[in-house]
Amino acid sequence: MTSCVAKEPIKKIAIFGGTHGNELTGVFLVTHWLRNGTEVHRAGLDVKPFITNPRAVEKCTRYIDCDLNRVFDLENLRFCPDSPQPAILAAWEAEAGGNPPSLAAE
Ligand SMILES: [Zn+2]
Repeated sequence: MTSCVAKEPIKKIAIFGGTHGNELTGVFLVTHWLRNGTEVHRAGLDVKPFITNPRAVEKCTRYIDCDLNRVFDLENLRFCPDSPQPAILAAWEAEAGGNPPSLAAE
């Protein structure tokens, strides 16, 4: 049986909006938190917001080359042209050996 309980305490959280570029609530919130992250900041947690698919957001379309919603894990994202994987890894690269987030939320 697979468990949903984390074995280690969660210290890094990635928040995504704009996985589908025509769903504007997430885009609005992530854009807001990128400008001012005080609402998502929590002591002891490293929380980073990301616009998941900036090209799709710019065109206000669900996706362009790849529906990221169908492949959303760091391993699968390597194969998507619009993958946010490089931005995710770069955001944490300078900190703690570049370990990716332990929790992703959209
Ligand atoms: Zn969606």
